[in-house]
Amino acid sequence: MATSWHARTLDDIRSALGTGERGLSSAEAAARLASHGPNALPTAKADSLLAIFLRQFRSPLIYVLIGAAVIIYLIEDPVDAYIIGAILLFNAVIGAVQEGRAANTLAALKSFAEADAVVLRDGKELIVPDRAVVPGDVLVLAEGQKVAADARLVSARGLRIDEAALTGESEPSLKSAETLPPGDRVLGDQENMLFKGTNVAAGTGRAIVVATGTATAIGAIAHELASSATEIPLQATIRRLTNVIIAVVASGGLGIFALGMLLGHSATEMFATVVALAVSVIPEGLPIVLTLVLASGVWRMSKRNALVKNLQAVEALGQASTIAVDKTGTITRNQMVVEAVYAEGSLFTVTGDGYAPVGEIAADGAPIAPGNHPELLVAGQIAAYTSTARVAYDETKQVWQVTGDPTEAALIVLARKIGFEKEDLERESPPVAELPFTSELRYHAAVHGGRRGMALSVTGAPEFMLAASTMVREGGTVAPMTAEKRVALEARMLELSGRGLRVLAYAERAGARAPLAPADVAGLTFLGFYAMKDGLKAEVPAALAKARAAGIKVVMITGDHVATARTVALEAGIYREGDRVLSGAEMDALSDGALAGILAEVSVFARVTPDHKLRIIKAYRRAGQMVAMTGDGINDASSLVAADLGVAMGKIGTEVAKEAADIILLDDDFGSIVSAVEEGRGIYASIRRVTLYLFSTSAGETLVIAGALIASYPVPVLPAQIIWLNFVTDGFLDIALAMEPKEEGLLEKPFRRPGRYLIDRAMAARMFLMALSMTAPTLLLFGLFLDEGLTKALTVSLTTLAVLQWYNAWNCRSEDRSLLSMNPFGNPYLVGATAIVVGLQLAALYTPFLQGLLTTMPLSLEEWGLILLASTPILVVEEIRKLFVRRTRPLPPRASPAASSRTDLDTP
Ligand code: ADP
Ligand code: MG
Repeated sequence: MATSWHARTLDDIRSALGTGERGLSSAEAAARLASHGPNALPTAKADSLLAIFLRQFRSPLIYVLIGAAVIIYLIEDPVDAYIIGAILLFNAVIGAVQEGRAANTLAALKSFAEADAVVLRDGKELIVPDRAVVPGDVLVLAEGQKVAADARLVSARGLRIDEAALTGESEPSLKSAETLPPGDRVLGDQENMLFKGTNVAAGTGRAIVVATGTATAIGAIAHELASSATEIPLQATIRRLTNVIIAVVASGGLGIFALGMLLGHSATEMFATVVALAVSVIPEGLPIVLTLVLASGVWRMSKRNALVKNLQAVEALGQASTIAVDKTGTITRNQMVVEAVYAEGSLFTVTGDGYAPVGEIAADGAPIAPGNHPELLVAGQIAAYTSTARVAYDETKQVWQVTGDPTEAALIVLARKIGFEKEDLERESPPVAELPFTSELRYHAAVHGGRRGMALSVTGAPEFMLAASTMVREGGTVAPMTAEKRVALEARMLELSGRGLRVLAYAERAGARAPLAPADVAGLTFLGFYAMKDGLKAEVPAALAKARAAGIKVVMITGDHVATARTVALEAGIYREGDRVLSGAEMDALSDGALAGILAEVSVFARVTPDHKLRIIKAYRRAGQMVAMTGDGINDASSLVAADLGVAMGKIGTEVAKEAADIILLDDDFGSIVSAVEEGRGIYASIRRVTLYLFSTSAGETLVIAGALIASYPVPVLPAQIIWLNFVTDGFLDIALAMEPKEEGLLEKPFRRPGRYLIDRAMAARMFLMALSMTAPTLLLFGLFLDEGLTKALTVSLTTLAVLQWYNAWNCRSEDRSLLSMNPFGNPYLVGATAIVVGLQLAALYTPFLQGLLTTMPLSLEEWGLILLASTPILVVEEIRKLFVRRTRPLPPRASPAASSRTDLDTP
């Protein structure tokens, strides 16, 4: 049955599926959804908890540790081996829990990003989630939509479907609603059928859903879709870092081992120490903490209306140095209103608000009646003929709403202001053929029948229209299009464009035939211009200033005319005197190298097609910039994929663009990109923070042990103690540090691009400073208490190191802000974690079980006081370092008043 839908008549299909012209009723649709199940393809099964748990062990670092535990077990104290084993288990549990949570967060976010479909229910167009489409539904299709299910066409206007996903055919295929003769046909030849998983490349249409979910053609092929990657970004960086760590541990371990042997320590003692050091230096907790940082960051971004679909995007986000934005819909409201009509030599102005089809038409400042101006009537007719948008009054919201391209919506509204309803017009002159607007064609052409035969109406970009016109009508007389005429008309167009208006030209030709091909759109009679206004979004100038303060360059990309683009960009604050506006044609004349060379001067790309966007991205890449690019149309998909960061508009964006993007802006607000960049930088700051903290502790312990060897002390921290410090003390504090709220003013500081190994020079220096500040007091106190017995001295060194870690966690809250200027309760997790680790340290000293395990004994209040005091240099040293950093920091580009007052606050 399901195979021959293409050969059955529409009536047959309607009765077979129990549906009609008005679609299904909502009740029927709900019942069918219950019986047929959701319209979804099976996704790869999520990994089981056990698999996630076992995966935690798959790391070279863990292998090293397991090897160490085995050797320790064989030649030395099995207790230490058990401790390492227990810690590894604990680590894997925490890792599995974090990974599970991160996956849940991503799944929750993904469900936001699911595609929508437009269906007819109870005769009304309704937007429903893809999953809720059922057999018998009538799909309403427009450019850029995804075909939600397999469906048989009822009607089609210039409908072209990109079926590459299914047939591999890269050219979109033209569809028609006609019933095909019986007989088997491959999918690609079923011209009246649409298939799930394909995209509408152009045109409009309606179709009856015949199969959903796994019953669809693609459902039969793809039983299991690859689950989208939930990979952690920075993975390459972590891998590189891991290799370095292993190399350092191996050579450092050998060095310390040799040093110890030279100084007369026993081989077993040194071996245990080296293994403990390895355990301490290896940051097995790092991947876990990084997952936590990223997942919570992604969650916060979604709260700021930026939906991150792909975790890799976060990496690009913090680093974006250029944002290339579409003019229409991002900088401007994408709400077009025709403000002027230049019709056959006379200029009319049009008033009105938004899409409400009420407004006054005036000539020379005086209101006129359109009925008395035949040239205006022609302008209105062609506007209606070449528009596929619809406007309707939404009773509940009390606003006029449009479906379709806003440019065409403006034309339909103009037609109504002049007095035409498209339906009435087309009843007298029915539509015969159509070429819908595409950015490549740059025009919209339609053929209508009528009493005087078929006629062609065209609206489009003025350059094309002037070139395609051989005649021009002005003041009621038709004359050949001469070079002087063209120049005069171009001047008229430039004058309108210079006011920031989007200008379309319109023309007609008597005589036309169906079907219509692009070659037929020639020999036109030029009639005039429509000039429409698309207001600037209110939030744009502020967001732009923020981006600029952050050192991010914003460039605007548009298909509009250079003059229109420049005016709008100037208003928005993107274009400044002396910048270059590059047109698509000028770009074509430049080599890739030359283009990359002049990018720094360009702030506006005008009259470009989506293909140019790809070149623009490549050029920025070549110039070494990380570029974020916004897009909404179906043609933007490839550039969204190519950009380091593809950003799709959630509201006006097509499903295809959303699918290709890394990030979806739910509110279409340019400011949200800037906020997302801010969050991205916050995530980087967190990553630096937790990495610094973990490694400084390891470095401190290493120095303490090396120092003790040189001073001919016994080893001052036992393996079990190192493990305690690293996992218990560090573990809690580091996770709390990961939760540190994002610092203010992140956008005003210059952003340092993270290096290949995550740890840069400044960070390494800071680490070393911290390690020194840990070594000195620990060795001093250890030496001081040595004559009171080794257990006492070991207890003191362990406690000193623990206290130093408490202090240092607080140091690490900020890279450059004084602890005194920060709200102590700003990170409640850190307060809680500190309380916990203090309690645990007390337990380590005062409970017999832990005393046995860690070789500790109780300390007196005075001894505690001494330790707490002797550890304070780590706080002082960091405060001094921070002060120094603040003093020498270069001023941010164009410091805003807010930024400078914050700096004052910082300085104690
Ligand atoms: P943008 O990237 O700014 O949306 P487009 O590529 O959509 O630019 O449009 C380029 C030019 O094509 C516009 O300046 C206008 O002159 C013309 N144009 C745009 N939309 C339509 C349409 N629906 N019908 C006819 N002409 C159009
Ligand atoms: Mg457009």
